[in-house]
Amino acid sequence: MSDTRDLAEAESVQLTSELIRIDTTNTGDPATVVGERAAAEYVAEKLAEVGFDTTYVESGAKGRGNVFARLEGADPSRGALLVHGHLDAVPADPSEWSVHPLSGAVQDGYVWGRGAVDMKDMVAMTLATARRFQRDGVVPPRDIIFAFLADEEAAGDYGSQWLVRNRPELFEGATEAISEVGGFSITVKDDVRAYMIETAEKGIAWLKLRVRGRAGHGSMVHEDNAVTKLTQAVARLGTHKFPLVLTESVREFLAAMSEITGMEFDEDDLEGAVGKLGAVARMVGATIRDTANPTMLTAGYKANVIPSVAEAVVDCRVLPGREAAFERELDEILGPDVEREWVAKLPAVETTFDGALVDAMTASIVAEDPGARTVPYMLSGGTDAKAFDSLGIRCFGFAPLRLPADLDFAALFHGVDERVPVDALKFGTRVMDRFLRSC
Ligand SMILES: [Zn+2]
Repeated sequence: MSDTRDLAEAESVQLTSELIRIDTTNTGDPATVVGERAAAEYVAEKLAEVGFDTTYVESGAKGRGNVFARLEGADPSRGALLVHGHLDAVPADPSEWSVHPLSGAVQDGYVWGRGAVDMKDMVAMTLATARRFQRDGVVPPRDIIFAFLADEEAAGDYGSQWLVRNRPELFEGATEAISEVGGFSITVKDDVRAYMIETAEKGIAWLKLRVRGRAGHGSMVHEDNAVTKLTQAVARLGTHKFPLVLTESVREFLAAMSEITGMEFDEDDLEGAVGKLGAVARMVGATIRDTANPTMLTAGYKANVIPSVAEAVVDCRVLPGREAAFERELDEILGPDVEREWVAKLPAVETTFDGALVDAMTASIVAEDPGARTVPYMLSGGTDAKAFDSLGIRCFGFAPLRLPADLDFAALFHGVDERVPVDALKFGTRVMDRFLRSC
């Protein structure tokens, strides 16, 4: 038994490294995307090698490769568990890195490279576990659908969103799902760790603003300047503080952290409470209010010509249940002269932190890290969970990693020198194995 466990642990490291070496850079511009097909074929080969039947699907465009495999469970009357991971990664500039971002170097106790934590690590741990199950003839308690997906890093138009719209049968029978940005540890005291399990995500609302004015000569007195009006609106919005809102996920997170640390988190002073959280304060701080960050500006074509149109893009992230209130507040801030249009809009998702699946997550973590605690949290970003939530699937972020106390994990996502500890991969593979046997 331990032979195949050791093999799975070793494979999780090797697969992470090899997946990093397959360049799957997703710039967001479909014309430049590379490697998703190669990565999907690599994954399919690793699954076929141990006897899985795989399905390859291109989502909306040539080369946007996705791979699916199903492992039959003991009780077909139960809903299936969807285990999904994305194969694409964001760009990386090699000149900024200590090692080449596509090297997949295994050194100093880490696997280095773009995608090491987002999320070729989880893809590798899933693959290693699936391969072990197939080799050992493990029958999980319920059907498991393995899905390896394209285009998560550009909101899934050529990945999860396309698949749920055009090929929903691939997810038929799935009732719950696990994937990225959860299951990692933060050290709360000495050797006690809390594992953050994602139960909610803010909504994504990318907003285009447009102001029309009167074109004219830059040398004249001009009252109706589109650039001036737009930038005033952008500044109002960018400096606006949306109200503090305590959602159920954040309330549960603070309650659990209070229980573990003995610290008091005053619900009437949310900013103060978040400030006490140390390493995760920045992450949690983005989930106690809506945000609107201006990210792009476009106007004009010559120094002495006042253009008739000016445009901006604002990245808005909205808490669950706040959509209507957010729009009302937005319109008040922008005023009547600014036209607005959503260029992307994906709703917030939120589920509860309870039930047999959550118990199985906690038990598998505690079995490998005695004294550990699991806590629910809300992600300020978005993942493929948004697409699967629209099919009525309960989604969790559970990619288990036991991390060193001093590692700034949040900074590694899309960051320079992205890397994952070898020990954490092995730990995560053991947890994944226990979890999928008891899901
Ligand atoms: Zn990701």
